[in-house]
Amino acid sequence: MNAPDPAATTASPPHASFAARAHVALADDGLRRKFRRAMDGLMTKRAAQFADTEAWASLRARGAAIRRRALARLPELLEQLEANCRKNGITVHWAETSAEADGIIEGILTRHGVRTIIKGKSMVSEEIHLNHFLGEHGIGAIESDLGEFVIQLAKETPSHIIMPCIHKSKEDVASLFEAKIDGQPYTEDVDVLTATARRVLREQFAAADAGLSGVNFAVAETGTLCLVENEGNGRLSTTLPPLHVAVMGIEKVVEQLEDVPPLLSLLTRSATGQTITTYVNFISGPRKTDEQDGPREVHLVLLDNGRSRIHGDLQLRETLACIRCGACMNHCPVYTRVGGHAYDAVYPGPIGKILTPQIEGLGKAGDLAHASSLCGACGEVCPVAIPIPDLLVRLRREASHAIPSSSVMGAGAQHSAVEDWIWRGWRWMYATPLFYRLATRMLRLIGNRLPASLPMLRDWTRVRAKPQFAPRSLHDLARDRGYHDE
Ligand code: SF4
Repeated sequence: MNAPDPAATTASPPHASFAARAHVALADDGLRRKFRRAMDGLMTKRAAQFADTEAWASLRARGAAIRRRALARLPELLEQLEANCRKNGITVHWAETSAEADGIIEGILTRHGVRTIIKGKSMVSEEIHLNHFLGEHGIGAIESDLGEFVIQLAKETPSHIIMPCIHKSKEDVASLFEAKIDGQPYTEDVDVLTATARRVLREQFAAADAGLSGVNFAVAETGTLCLVENEGNGRLSTTLPPLHVAVMGIEKVVEQLEDVPPLLSLLTRSATGQTITTYVNFISGPRKTDEQDGPREVHLVLLDNGRSRIHGDLQLRETLACIRCGACMNHCPVYTRVGGHAYDAVYPGPIGKILTPQIEGLGKAGDLAHASSLCGACGEVCPVAIPIPDLLVRLRREASHAIPSSSVMGAGAQHSAVEDWIWRGWRWMYATPLFYRLATRMLRLIGNRLPASLPMLRDWTRVRAKPQFAPRSLHDLARDRGYHDE
């Protein structure tokens, strides 16, 4: 039987613009079908959970307030969390960058002579490319979340923050297991496939020297780490091996224990349409002397990686309220058509479009802020009311400057000279009523006669119908009805 190759999780997709990658994804009918089916299912389940719109609005307001309150007191809460974790016997480490976090984790593991770790799901560990780093230092990392296990076997990267292998069909998984797991015949029976993964992973759980997990919420008041999951792998990773390392972004802290239930309710309903997940783990320290289970040592790594800079900007700080439910992705007309890999980022979809350019810099990922129709669906479904479209517009503005404000990192992707002239002309037209009226009248007269094959229209109309201009403008129609105040 083959275990997954521990160092093979983070193969980098080829560098190209988002537009180029989206182009490739859009040509893949199979991929679009898989995403459409999966996203439709998730949207339906979420809608059923929030059928009572008044209850949804009130729970959402509560969740949004909890997150904003925690962010307003972030430095103070982090110090309180550290103090209470230490009281509970958890060793706390601070990492300013990805490299620092990798180094700290590798140091802990090396000091304990760890050769293999078993991992619960952790997006922060993806953010710091931990598997790759540990692989280079001779430490194997085995993913135990079923979706992550499949991705690791396939040597791919996750395409969704909650369901990492959502881009794979059961036929894909059947072929993968047949090719990679000794003695596994091809079968599309999902129960058999799941049982196979379970059997392989059980051996890994028993053999691992340490467990690593993410953290959904960390409670400052009590020094408790909260972790939700459906497979029991999170609980096994954090209790079976003698050493547990948890890694989290600093924004995951909340004030008090009673903040957790409303956030959990919003998280699980928005993410998978479940009232609550199968497992909710509260970790408050290593095994006590009179206890038989649990790790003998627990470490918590608090990762900044640009979050303090983001926190310093009152508008961009909203990004840090995210509870990583993935609902914005499931409802995004761009993500649901191109899938997660087109973003070439750890965090895809709307949350990725605002978070990635801020973490990695506008120069590297500024084009992601443009990968949106600004339809507003992401902001509507976000359980903590993050104004994602407003943040996208802000980042677009920042990306258009050669020197963005100090809140965001990296040079902007300046407009070309032609683009600049187009926008200046546009602004002038809107600011000059006479010219605006003249231009709209001309468009009504000749717009519908312009062939879709014109070079300036060709790219746009290749995948869309050419818009038809109405014979009369909205202003004219309004005037007919007696409205004269434009
Ligand atoms: S931005 Fe909102 S909807 Fe998107 S993952 Fe975060 S909490 Fe969920």
